[in-house]
Amino acid sequence: MKIIMLGAPGAGKGTQAKKIAEKYQIPHISTGDIFRANIKNGTELGKKAKTYMDQGLLVPDELVCDLVVDRVKQEDCKNGYILDGFPRTIPQAESLDEALGQMGESLDYAINVDVPDEHIVNRMSGRRACVGCGATYHIVYAPTKKEGVCDVCGAELILRDDDKPETVQKRLSVYHEQTQPLIDYYKGKGILKDVDGTKDMDVVFQAITDILGA
Ligand code: ADP
Ligand code: AMP
Repeated sequence: MKIIMLGAPGAGKGTQAKKIAEKYQIPHISTGDIFRANIKNGTELGKKAKTYMDQGLLVPDELVCDLVVDRVKQEDCKNGYILDGFPRTIPQAESLDEALGQMGESLDYAINVDVPDEHIVNRMSGRRACVGCGATYHIVYAPTKKEGVCDVCGAELILRDDDKPETVQKRLSVYHEQTQPLIDYYKGKGILKDVDGTKDMDVVFQAITDILGA
């Protein structure tokens, strides 16, 4: 099963993608996580990506496409995968389609987690990320057992720099301009599935599993 997640920043793509990956035993590939790991490790890619991420801009397509195409060719992806945060532009979607076409493959589902802008700032200002393992929480909707400490690895939680309100506004406008057109792109391919992302996480997950099947 080859799935992509669409939706505004903070819509809940990562939250749902992790649950889907676990249920269907397929790798969860998050380009945001890949960039953050590169930043943490001080790689050249990380240094380049950070300059864009800090401004709420997208990292240029040429730094993203090959990375994802190489990743989906790996052995653990042969039974499928879930892409979270990619594609984010029409050229990215086209380059993925072209690479999959060359392998005789295609995507099965594009799941659009629909959340209106007015919910997004609240979602993102309350999001907390673990500096150790990258796990994601929300101070109200998905709190940790002990405040400020990761349930999984015990490391400290932070508010991501790009989740600060001034950057969130920029990311939202970038989303509407560059990423939202993908909804029509995948509708045209007949694989778009919309879910209401304003509902509780478990309700959203149920809606997704209804689409994907047992
Ligand atoms: P994305 O990957 O789309 O940027 P996340 O999955 O990180 O979004 O979710 C953004 C924030 O909103 C996180 O803090 C997460 O815990 C919270 N969240 C995710 N889904 C829901 C939901 N259905 N209801 C309330 N909060 C949610
Ligand atoms: P995310 O964790 O998905 O919210 O991504 C965080 C940031 O990483 C984004 O705001 C972009 O700057 C960058 N990024 C992640 N995925 C992509 C992508 N497919 N194309 C361009 N930039 C990306």
